Order: sequence, then C-alpha cells, then structure tokens
Amino acid sequence: PYDVLVVGGGPAGAAAAIYAARKGIRTAIVAERFGGQVMDTVGIENFISVPYTEGPKLAASLEQHVKQYGVEVITEQRAAAISKDGYVNVDLASGATLKSRAVILATGARWRDLNVPGELEYRTKGVAYCPHCDGPFFKGKRVAVIGGGNSGIEAAIDLAGIVEHVTVVEFADTLRADEVLQKKARSMGNIDIIMSARTTEVIGDGSKVVGMDYEDRTTGEIKHLAVAGIFVQIGLVPNTEFLKGSEIALTRFGEIEIDTKGATSLPGVYAAGDATTVPFKQIIISMGAGATAALGAFDYLIRTPAP
Ligand code: FAD
Repeated sequence: PYDVLVVGGGPAGAAAAIYAARKGIRTAIVAERFGGQVMDTVGIENFISVPYTEGPKLAASLEQHVKQYGVEVITEQRAAAISKDGYVNVDLASGATLKSRAVILATGARWRDLNVPGELEYRTKGVAYCPHCDGPFFKGKRVAVIGGGNSGIEAAIDLAGIVEHVTVVEFADTLRADEVLQKKARSMGNIDIIMSARTTEVIGDGSKVVGMDYEDRTTGEIKHLAVAGIFVQIGLVPNTEFLKGSEIALTRFGEIEIDTKGATSLPGVYAAGDATTVPFKQIIISMGAGATAALGAFDYLIRTPAP
C-alpha cells in the first residue's frame, strides 16, 4: 500500500504529490489524464511569477517536477469508487484496487457545454469559459456571456470593465442571479441583457469567433449578435460522480466538502482544487490547496498508526 495516493493529475494533484513525496513517504498519482484542464488551455497569464505560458507546457513541467521526486504516476485509469477498511481503497474502472493509508482527491471539474454547432470548433478561438483567465484577451471588443445565473452576471460585470460591450444571453425569462448583482449589471452602461434567448450557433470565420445566433423564444425568430468572444457560464460540474453513495460528504452541487486543512468527512481522505468547495477555481489556487491537503494528510499520518 501507499502512504499517500493522489487521485487526479491536474495542478492540485501535482502539488499534493510533490508536497507528500518531499516528506519521504510512498506517494502515487492515479489520473485519467495528467495535466487536467490545463491541457485544454492555450495562453496562461495569471500563474504568478510566469508572465506567459501555455497549458501543455505547464503540464509538462508539472509532470517533470512530480517525477523528480520518484512519485509513481499511473495514467489512463479512472477511479470508480472509494471505501475504507483500515486502508482507504480506491477501486479503478479497470477492476484493480489501490490501497493507501491516506488519499487526496483532486479530480477537478468540467465546464458545462452549450452543445451547439461551432462551440467545439471555436473553443479557445473565441469560445471561453473563464473570465479571470481570458477576459483581457478581448480588451476593447464586444463579447457575449451565455447564462444569467450568478457566475454569468459576475462574468458580465467583470468583463464590462475590460471589453467594449457585453451582452448577457439568458435562456429563461428571468435572471437567477442575486438581486445585488443584477442591479450592479444594470447600472453599467455597457451591459445589455437579453432574456428568453436560446443560443443556437457559434459563428466563426474559419479561424476565430465573429458572432452567434440565438432564437428569440417569444417569437421563434433567429437573431444574430456580432461578437468576438463568447463566455459560456452555464455551470461548472465537479468530477465527483464516483463519490456519490460513499462516506464522503458532497454539497448539493457535488463539490467535496473540506475543512481548512483539506480534510473531507472521511478520516484519512483529503481533497483539493476544483472538485471541492474552494470558492475560486484557478491554477494557482488549486496548487495551494493541493499543498494544504498534502500537509493535512501528513499531519494525519503521523498521528495515526498504520493498519
Ligand atoms: P483539473 O485540472 O480538472 O484536473 C483533474 C484531474 O483529475 C485530471 O488529471 C483528470 O484526468 C483527473 N480525473 C478526473 N476524474 C477522475 C477519476 N474519476 N479518476 C481518476 N482521475 C480523474 N486557470 C487559471 O488560473 N488560469 C488560466 O488561464 C486558466 N485558463 C483556463 C482555460 C480553460 C479552457 C479551462 C477549462 C480552465 C482554465 N483555468 C485557468 C482553470 C484551471 O485550469 C483549473 O482551475 C485547474 O486546472 C484546476 O485544477 P485541479 O487539479 O483541481 O483539476
């Protein structure tokens, strides 16, 4: 068995593994895809001390750093269930079971897609999901935000300070965002809000986004918006389906509940990054959380006799 088994190989998992391995304990990472969401990112400008990098480059550095400590890296394996007897057991979809004294869950999250034509083709070419990350790329341009919940209206307010104009496109006939956010958005001169609008297509010129179409659900008419960017804000889904029915407490959104040391409700199981209740989902925040969870797990190990 391992001392620390990290499930997930994104920024949170990599940081957790390095912090654990530096304690001289037997550490492994099991992940579907090393690098996580970072592998889907083009430009990264907010990883402090690195003014500009690209996702695959950062992922390669993460892997190199992890391997420097002799961490066993098992990829292309999906965790399917978790349970505890004296050890924590992680059952893989392949049928194998990995045993460890402590486990750190860092399975991340995924943005909910619109599922309309053009979205996939123009992802990272104008279709974006993270205003903190990609907002500055659209300085002085017109953009759309799809979704009128809290994250959509927060994104619109954030972007309105950078871009020329923001149109919020909401499917329902009301906004779900908190009143205070709606008020703030309405007070800004460069935000328009369209309701009862079903996004039907992302339109590009072959290399980048130039607009989008939506159906006015009150009349059935198809309308066009000329925009250079489309921020999809219809939900971030934690990769925690495999924990449902386990002893690990999740919020109603499926986020893993953690305390300030990264501990979950199951002793010996820690968690970090986008899969958890951490309020902001960013690379640098996930790495800090991964370090916290590893130190939390180490605290647990030195106080708990081996089974
Ligand atoms: P993830 O990166 O999601 O990694 C999760 C890991 O868990 C992966 O290895 C995955 O394969 C694995 N996994 C999932 N489920 C299982 C399972 N059941 N079994 C085994 N393994 C599993 N943040 C910034 O700070 N700056 C940016 O510029 C930026 N740009 C972004 C652009 C895009 C397009 C996207 C999608 C995100 C961006 N982000 C950015 C957000 C950032 O990528 C995430 O906050 C960060 O990657 C979260 O790290 P994580 O380790 O928690 O999870």
